Amino acid sequence: MAPLGEKSDASGEVIVAEVGKRPISTIVIIIAMQTEALPVVNKLQLTEQSNSLFPPGVPWVRYYGTYKDLHINLIWPGKDSVLGVDSVGTISASLVTYAAIQVLQPDLIINAGTAGGFKAKGASIGDVFIASDCAFHDRRIPIPVFDLYGVGLRKAFEAPNLIQELNLKVGKLSTGDSLDMTPHDESSIIANDATVKDMEGAAIAYVADLLKVPAIFIKAVTDIVDGEKPTAEEFLQNLAAVTAALDEAVAQVIAFINGKSLSEL
Ligand code: SAH
Repeated sequence: MAPLGEKSDASGEVIVAEVGKRPISTIVIIIAMQTEALPVVNKLQLTEQSNSLFPPGVPWVRYYGTYKDLHINLIWPGKDSVLGVDSVGTISASLVTYAAIQVLQPDLIINAGTAGGFKAKGASIGDVFIASDCAFHDRRIPIPVFDLYGVGLRKAFEAPNLIQELNLKVGKLSTGDSLDMTPHDESSIIANDATVKDMEGAAIAYVADLLKVPAIFIKAVTDIVDGEKPTAEEFLQNLAAVTAALDEAVAQVIAFINGKSLSEL
């Protein structure tokens, strides 16, 4: 989803290159769970929008505000209207990303959230990772080329200065629609060379790439997938503490981005 040099015609390239050089102005932050979103809303002093920008009846929520020169929008897919739980997973994430890009035309998307981490790849509880790449691990289509389509590998926007300045870990992210991990998922995750596992990242990367908006992924580790503890239990145990690390990282990233262009990240 590189913003530079993606357009084929010469005039398009000029426009895209210029976007890379002017200061970033509008940011959309996508966060799947309320427990993850509210600390960020509070830290950045965002306000909930009363009249939804989105179609009537959808549970999607926009919080907005400014941080110095930045227009910040945080989109949370909200609670499932029948079951009342957070609308986690790839479908809601794709829909809100598409809708938010259409309405808000952001310069940059930030997907922030919790993730499972692999200790064999160097992850520990509370670590915050920036994803270098996103891919799916539960879209197995064993037909030539469709197999690659299923994996759906996409590079995150490269932000080497941000990673160095904030001293963040870097790893590959693997996405699927389940919190647990089947043996099939596990071999795909290993094939994806992933350090962190979530339920939204690669879907957001797909939509961002489709609409040519650069995207970065900030993932804080709530549970160790290749450890002894059951994932759901470990996830719930660590959720509150790890969201504190996540909201701190998001605030630092926003502060770093302010006044910079995409090419300076
Ligand atoms: N029991 C939780 C369910 C949340 S699903 C609840 O009460 O709401 C887990 C969420 O955290 C997803 O948004 C996903 O992106 C992230 N996540 C954290 N650990 C994960 C893991 N090990 N595998 C997949 N997703 C994980």
